[in-house]
Amino acid sequence: MYPELKLFIAGAWRSAVSDIPVINPATEEEIGRLPCASISDLDDALEAAVAGFRLWSRTSPRQRADTILRAAALIRERQEEIAQAITLEHGKPLPQARLEVIRGAEFFEWDAGEAMRAYGRVIPAARGHKFSVHHQPIGVVAAFSPWNFPMSQPARKIAGALASGCSIILKAAEETPAGAVHIVKAFEDAGLPAGVLNLVFGNPAEISGHLIPQDPVRLVAFTGSTAVGRHLTTFAAGHMTSVLMELGGHAPVIVCEDTDVQTAAQSGAVRKMRNAGQVCTSPTRFFVNEDIFDQYSEAFVARAAATVVGNGMDAGVEMGPLANDRRVPALTELVEDARAKGAIVATGGAASGNRGYFFEPTVLLNVPDNARIMQEEPFGPVAVVNPVASLDAAIAEANAVPFGLAGYGFTNRADYIDRMIDEVEVGNLSINTLEASMPETPFGGVKSSGTGREGGTEGLENYMTVKNVWHASEIS
Ligand code: NAD
Repeated sequence: MYPELKLFIAGAWRSAVSDIPVINPATEEEIGRLPCASISDLDDALEAAVAGFRLWSRTSPRQRADTILRAAALIRERQEEIAQAITLEHGKPLPQARLEVIRGAEFFEWDAGEAMRAYGRVIPAARGHKFSVHHQPIGVVAAFSPWNFPMSQPARKIAGALASGCSIILKAAEETPAGAVHIVKAFEDAGLPAGVLNLVFGNPAEISGHLIPQDPVRLVAFTGSTAVGRHLTTFAAGHMTSVLMELGGHAPVIVCEDTDVQTAAQSGAVRKMRNAGQVCTSPTRFFVNEDIFDQYSEAFVARAAATVVGNGMDAGVEMGPLANDRRVPALTELVEDARAKGAIVATGGAASGNRGYFFEPTVLLNVPDNARIMQEEPFGPVAVVNPVASLDAAIAEANAVPFGLAGYGFTNRADYIDRMIDEVEVGNLSINTLEASMPETPFGGVKSSGTGREGGTEGLENYMTVKNVWHASEIS
């Protein structure tokens, strides 16, 4: 059920001198050994990616799209096998892993279409002259994908790079390598030329430290924490290398007094616990109008407490363990800090079970502004539910963090929605739903949540450069 893990360099799978274990977070059992790339493996990957770029950037957009669509079809066919591997290594419930596999395929399908629509433009010019703007693939991409969505996170980056005509070296997450391995297999079987897509694992700092300064690497595409994203951005700037950064969020949810309280509360509690809260768009800071606060928080706490927690392989489980052990003490500390500063721990608040990295679905009420969790993204199944006196106060709270990735509002009042659109500082705002993005919508952050967009018609922009051509009919 779990694939053999290897590096993929220059169109061939290879082992490495050193390897590390991959652990099932629900059982703490070893499920595989992951090879770690050496510097010479990285140099081979770079050489392959340079050759891959030369070939792929000259391949027609339609041919590129055809290959990507063939790989996407294989991913759909292999949905069950991939989903089971993801649940084993990540812990999420199997039905959620199945959906993620399809979402990964959709990212490829959308970007394959965009490959054929990366239009330039013609600028009016004097007679005898033509100005034309061309979008061209930027070069070799060094990409780093995180562990929270083992399939859809690498899919976003590979799709953007390959649709644009770039080659890519992807360092996928060491905790959850199977999704990326399956994607690469699908592309291998779909006939992608050698060198266009290369997959490595190992020490993240060593790999980024070695690849980013290399001249052929023209884009660093990273999804992960703001701290690491800031470090990589600074490092890349030293080499004048572009970055696409999809970083942390700390999403606010503004719940207005006119909303359907019960439905909104149920929706909030269910969505908060999806993927055990390990989602950069996870709704976390709920600012609820004080007129409906008691009703809302009671329903929210009841639904959160009823979440079925367990091994993601078991039927009926709604929330699995955290994906890695270091998140358990991190969450415990955040909850204890809030409790010490006066927050009410209405349900949960601690690690649970004696095997696996499980953390209870947790709801904190009336959390004071000086609690760390009001500024730090928990990236776990912990919700803050606080009363607010007005929409003004809710918007001020929503914006009172350095992050601006996703934000949500629950209301049917046009004037409230209008103000949220204008004033909530996020890259993605959703009203009456806690879904944040689709392959066809641009996704990304403002403030410390990152730069650039993935998906939508904007999704290929970071992977391409703009070349203006001035063609004069006569020599001047
Ligand atoms: P972390 O900061 O140690 O690592 C985050 C990611 O960056 C990991 O995938 C890691 O492999 C990678 N990384 C770390 N150092 C790197 C380097 N020098 N070069 C290249 N890659 C590097 O945090 P963590 O404990 O893995 O995750 C916790 C935090 O990360 C969360 O609080 C959350 O904010 C963030 N995170 C965000 C997303 C997202 O979707 N935006 C996904 C995963 C993690």
